[in-house]
Amino acid sequence: MADPPKHPAVSPIAAGLACRCPRCGRGRLFDGYLTVAARCGACGLDLTKADSGDGPAVFIIFILGFLVVPLALLLESLVAPPYWVHVALWPVVILGGALGLLRPLKGLLIALQYHHKASEGGAQSYD
Ligand SMILES: [Zn+2]
Repeated sequence: MADPPKHPAVSPIAAGLACRCPRCGRGRLFDGYLTVAARCGACGLDLTKADSGDGPAVFIIFILGFLVVPLALLLESLVAPPYWVHVALWPVVILGGALGLLRPLKGLLIALQYHHKASEGGAQSYD
C-alpha cells in the first residue's frame, strides 16, 4: 500500500492565480512584486528552480491585444472622440492590465510547470 501524499492536491490554477505555493497552496510564491521566493514558507518547497521565462509577458500581450485593439476601434467607430482621448486612455488601460495580470499569470505558469513536472530537458525536479 502506497503512502498517502504528504501534501493535499492543490489546483495549479487556483494556487497559481492566487500567487501561492504550487505544492501546498498556502505559502507565498513571491517575495516581491515578481521575485519568486527561494522557499515556500509553509511547506519548504524549493522554488529556486521555478522559471516561467517570458511566458507571462507573451500571454499578456495576446490577452491585452485581443481586448484593447477591438475596444479602441469600437470606441472610435461609435463615439469618435478626439485623439487625445485615445492617447490618454489606452496606455493607462494597457499598463494597468499588464501590471495587474503579470503576477497572477507568472504564478499560474509556475504552478502549471510544477504540476506537470515540466523542466528544461526534464532534468530538474522540484522535490
Ligand atoms: Zn508550499
